[in-house]
Amino acid sequence: MKLAMVIDSSRCVDCKACMISCSTANETPPGRHRNWIKTKPPEYSAARPGGHFQPGACMHCEYPTCVPACPSGATWRKTETGEVLIDEGLCIGCGNCVPACPYGARYIHGKRRVADKCDYCASRRVQGLEPACVGTCLTKARVFGDLDDPGSEAAKRLGKAKFVQLEYPGVATRPAMFYVKETAPDNWMRKPEAPASLRFLSDFAAPGVKTLVGLVGFGLLAALARVLLLKDGDAKQQGGAHE
Ligand code: SF4
Ligand code: SF4
Ligand code: SF4
Repeated sequence: MKLAMVIDSSRCVDCKACMISCSTANETPPGRHRNWIKTKPPEYSAARPGGHFQPGACMHCEYPTCVPACPSGATWRKTETGEVLIDEGLCIGCGNCVPACPYGARYIHGKRRVADKCDYCASRRVQGLEPACVGTCLTKARVFGDLDDPGSEAAKRLGKAKFVQLEYPGVATRPAMFYVKETAPDNWMRKPEAPASLRFLSDFAAPGVKTLVGLVGFGLLAALARVLLLKDGDAKQQGGAHE
């Protein structure tokens, strides 16, 4: 199973029903949102005609930069489905994962003191319902489903069109959010930041320091190296948290 969201930006009319329904379904605190609509800046309009609004949310990346940034193991990727999830019982609210996400998809929940982001409305899906944003979108700009199921709305849409995955330059996160037909804007992502503690560890992970590799494990270092190497990507424009 490979869960994904497939978005046709040309259908979005910026009604923001998806944001309102998401906030209601997931009880996000005032001023915080799990999803968003980006607006195409004027300089894009002439060069790239098409939709003006770009719906988004956590991209449930195949190579999520938030996972190696999490010191407690609270943030993890479920390989069976591709979902990137937060175990709130393990989350210590340190906030390391927030700047580690190039899409600004996370925030710290003020009351619960844990990280929060889109989970494809897990609580609705166990009842057989679609994610709230998808169920609310009258224009079908957002569709969701299992790409391994050829009958799913997501697979059908993806099979008919060329698509793009949005990535910060040099950061190959491989998002499970696919944009068909129209992808602008693509200049709002931000440079992911590794936590200071991991940067410190990486300084010692020079060739020859094998004992440290043994201490922290190859997996963490590999993931860490990925985040840190990506620090050198070209910054285009800093994105903001979706407040
Ligand atoms: S509900 Fe659909 S059309 Fe309305 S803003 Fe969201 S994605 Fe766009
Ligand atoms: S979009 Fe951000 S929070 Fe979501 S999986 Fe990717 S890196 Fe993690
Ligand atoms: S705030 Fe983020 S990085 Fe810190 S423990 Fe929670 S999920 Fe992990």
